[in-house]
Amino acid sequence: MMELDLERLRKKLIRSRQKVFQRYQSLGEDWQALSERDKRELEDIKLALAKMAGTIYGICESCRKPISQNRLEIFPALFTA
Ligand SMILES: [Zn+2]
Repeated sequence: MMELDLERLRKKLIRSRQKVFQRYQSLGEDWQALSERDKRELEDIKLALAKMAGTIYGICESCRKPISQNRLEIFPALFTA
């Protein structure tokens, strides 16, 4: 199986999470005011990080094949390919 640069992808996820958190703060920490897109993004980031911890990150949920580093670089919270 191909090697993924997990540290690099983890940093991207954490940066994205920080950006959503900054938007949350700019809304006066009003969770209801946060867009559905941002809420969904947070859920996806949480799931991606949990998959990394459980070593099932980068495996397509549909066909179980590995997802390429290139595709994950573009969108690190990608669960099917
Ligand atoms: Zn697949």
